[in-house]
Amino acid sequence: MAGSVAWVTDVTPEDLVDPFGRTVRDLRISVTDRCNFRCAYCMPAEGMKWVPREDILTFEEIERFARVCVDRFGFDGIRLTGGEPLVRAHLPRLVERLAGLGVDVSLTTNGATLRRHAQDLADAGLARINISIDSLQRDRFLELTRRDELDNVLDGIDAAIDAGLAPVKLNVVMMRGINDDEAVDFATFGRERGVTVRFIEFMPLDATGEWTKATVVPAEEIVSAIEAVYPLVALTRGTEPAERFRFADGKGEVGVIASVTRPFCGDCDRVRITAEGSFRTCLFAIDEFDMLRHLRGGGSDDDLVDAISAAVGTKWAGHSIGQVNFIRPAKSMSQIGG
Ligand code: SF4
Repeated sequence: MAGSVAWVTDVTPEDLVDPFGRTVRDLRISVTDRCNFRCAYCMPAEGMKWVPREDILTFEEIERFARVCVDRFGFDGIRLTGGEPLVRAHLPRLVERLAGLGVDVSLTTNGATLRRHAQDLADAGLARINISIDSLQRDRFLELTRRDELDNVLDGIDAAIDAGLAPVKLNVVMMRGINDDEAVDFATFGRERGVTVRFIEFMPLDATGEWTKATVVPAEEIVSAIEAVYPLVALTRGTEPAERFRFADGKGEVGVIASVTRPFCGDCDRVRITAEGSFRTCLFAIDEFDMLRHLRGGGSDDDLVDAISAAVGTKWAGHSIGQVNFIRPAKSMSQIGG
């Protein structure tokens, strides 16, 4: 990896264990709340209030926070998210800094500008990539994203493959009555392109507040629809969010993330930091912990360690979607980061 400097530290990491005995190993970093799409379930067409640029973490601050997580707690994975991370200028420079920490760096993107960036990201040390795409039909794609960008996203998928990023995964949010008739088409697409399609149950993180359980297409139903055409063999899941299946004929894999109907919180090893430096112990967390005051207020690495440990000490067992005590987070997915 050109230009990356292996970070050397003399501190022995200590496991960061939450109140339910889960060891935290994975950090999701939102590098921006801005996006070049306006997906109907994620953002209003107009009028989004963006975080002021001066309040967004700098690359130095992101690297420092990540380094503390890696050196002091032994984190081994970092995923970059947004909004749309590729709208943040010079992103390969951040990837290079993070890859220099010696961990697996991955990215989730809508893929629209990936043809321009894929090779630079791979050269900077990006290992894996997930591309969010909810329809293979041009009109429906336009309706869902309010952008006529399907061709660019499909080309972006090819660009990721050409750049040697692997695996290349597609994240498809399945929504009842919207794109639930495309499960087999996506499975076929994945088999033909050699990419892994992961279907995601629709979660109550939409900006419109219109989510209901009725809009969820259960994982069971998605798997049966695919199995009716392509026989599947279940694979072990480990701490991965996705339930994985390989095609019986050997033509790759497919996955489902059953956050609503089959939650996997019992194995959760993830925490997040938003673009403005708010630490979240869960995607659905109600509380956030301000790390910016430590990063910008002269705090030491030990202060960050204490703040992160204290926050994780409050982590709950899991989300309670569908239960009476479920409270929707005040922020939508684009403001939290996937
Ligand atoms: S909902 Fe929260 S606790 Fe459950 S897996 Fe996701 S981040 Fe972890």
